[in-house]
Amino acid sequence: MFHVKQFDLDVIVVGGGHAGAEAAAVSARAGARTELVTLRLDGIGVMSCNPAIGGLGKGHLVREVDALDGVMGRIADLSGIQFRLLNRRKGPAVQGPRAQIDRKIYRTAMQRELSSISNLEIIEGEVADFLMNGDTVAGVVLADGSEIRARSVVLTTGTFLRGLIRIGESATPAGRAGDRATIRLAQRMESLGLPMGRLKTGTPPRLDGRSIDWGILDEQRGDDSPVMFSFLSRAPAVRQISCGITHTNAATHAIIERNLTRSAIYGGHFESVGPRYCPSVEDKVVRFREKDAHQVFLEPEGLDDHTVYPNGISTSLPADVQSEFVRTIRGLESVRILQPGYAIEYDFVDPKALRSSLELRCAPGLYLAGQINGTTGYEEAAAQGLVAGLNAAMSATERESVSFPRTDSYIGVMIDDLVTRGVTEPYRMFTSRAEYRLSLRADNADQRLTPLGMELGVVATARDRAFADKERRLASGRTRLAGKSLTPQQASKLGIQVSQDGVRRSGIELLSFKNVDMRVLAEVWPDLADIDDGTAMQIQRDSLYANYEERQRKEIEAFARDENQPLPDDIDYMAISGLSGELCAKLDSAKPETLGQAGRIEGMTPPAMALILARIRLSERRRLA
Ligand code: FAD
Repeated sequence: MFHVKQFDLDVIVVGGGHAGAEAAAVSARAGARTELVTLRLDGIGVMSCNPAIGGLGKGHLVREVDALDGVMGRIADLSGIQFRLLNRRKGPAVQGPRAQIDRKIYRTAMQRELSSISNLEIIEGEVADFLMNGDTVAGVVLADGSEIRARSVVLTTGTFLRGLIRIGESATPAGRAGDRATIRLAQRMESLGLPMGRLKTGTPPRLDGRSIDWGILDEQRGDDSPVMFSFLSRAPAVRQISCGITHTNAATHAIIERNLTRSAIYGGHFESVGPRYCPSVEDKVVRFREKDAHQVFLEPEGLDDHTVYPNGISTSLPADVQSEFVRTIRGLESVRILQPGYAIEYDFVDPKALRSSLELRCAPGLYLAGQINGTTGYEEAAAQGLVAGLNAAMSATERESVSFPRTDSYIGVMIDDLVTRGVTEPYRMFTSRAEYRLSLRADNADQRLTPLGMELGVVATARDRAFADKERRLASGRTRLAGKSLTPQQASKLGIQVSQDGVRRSGIELLSFKNVDMRVLAEVWPDLADIDDGTAMQIQRDSLYANYEERQRKEIEAFARDENQPLPDDIDYMAISGLSGELCAKLDSAKPETLGQAGRIEGMTPPAMALILARIRLSERRRLA
């Protein structure tokens, strides 16, 4: 044991993946003396699987990370080689920005970004153990025996904890292809009594683009007007490319079916669960026998790289079977495989053991973020890294921890899902997970979160200024539009379909009607023509959802009343008569911090909630008496 004064640092972040990069950056931005320790310096910013960022739900997370001045969105914009807004034809609430990424540019730009942050040191090393101060984690021990003491430690080791790569019948310990697994730390974590389990995921073979017959394939182009991730970016930074589209077929499926027993996933070698929404090609063939083709996107991994990522055929079949089935696919008849696909199994920690600050309940001072918490995906990892790094810094500098309510952000939805429900399969974000998705849009992430970032002091001056300027333009645009109005008759004459109820509609209200945009209004009121496109578009999106949002705001207020009712850590659920044994056990293990979190535990019922509430009220009355 050692004395608190002997700390070398405020925060140590272990792992330089997507969670680690964001955790280290925000911790330093929050003013904490931070050190990032990672296995390989050149591994910082590596994308282990698909060369793409964003998508439905995931794009929302990137925008939210960006709104808090995180790094992922800006680096993705610098390295994006094809931008597409998914669900472009649907409403803005469910549109998700996505970009195909040049792996090398992403990695280099991330390494440059992190090394330019003041307050942040980066060193290469393997963390093998923790320094303990009683139950509290107070630093790390590296594999070479050196010790680093810090007030908080953020662990973001991804798929490395006892990682095991499987291809066919072979199994090799590894954190991912080309990286060694982390074994000693995993054993140490087990000895801390943490609830741990195994999960798995997989990746497809990498192809040599020079051996693909691109000429016969369908082309997928990026958007003509690319939508960026960061609120600070304006346009792509590098040349844009197209992807190819092809399909599996009956011959592909027959080879896979014939060799299923040789697949690591289907040969009975795995006990762990994989991502349901990112199935292997073996899974697709077995689960969807009625389908005679599955789509495969051929995604170039970079501008000066011949490697192609065939999105849709992740596999753990032996390498010879992979070559055979891949060559049955149109355009890939003579393809060369550069690296076989594989599956990886790894340890994760049950996230129910975490507080919503992502600090472990049983080991204060230790925060976990990323794949180690049972999630999958770069974006989910980055968003958790931001929460864990921020809270580690807050605690180390003796400030209040920061919580993200699920009513305000996708970040909040994910953290709440993880810590209250835990995971039974790798967790990924979807827009359907957010109850209040009409107000949690990718387009308004800055309006929802940048003020919080400014208050916490984690937003740099450039963003601060850009946000203040945007807010000014929005406020002025809204005031000017609110000052204009049309009667239903006037609106009809202009072709705007409003009900003839005699009620005048303001300029803002008119923007929510079909086929009305600022160009239409500027024809009626030419003095509005100088409102810039970005401001006009944002006011229009806000106005489109204004009525729903008002209803949602009332629901959120009602929800917040329960949501924010704190539940003491030491509440004895067994002593509440009327609660089933199963529910008591779940509550005891999840230790919800609020009544709202308790309500989302599987099997919870309104009467059970009433019993818990009554118990808290009784305890409060007794305390006051
Ligand atoms: P990582 O990005 O893995 O970073 C972990 C970091 O920790 C590394 O830098 C490593 O060097 C460091 N580290 C590990 N141990 C130590 C130690 N003891 N000391 C110091 N440093 C250490 N996501 C999807 O969304 N879809 C997919 O289809 C998909 N498929 C995948 C397939 C494979 C084979 C793999 C490996 C990953 C896949 N992913 C997929 C997941 C995606 O790569 C991860 O979710 C994401 O990278 C997790 O980020 P992270 O920061 O938690 O971990």
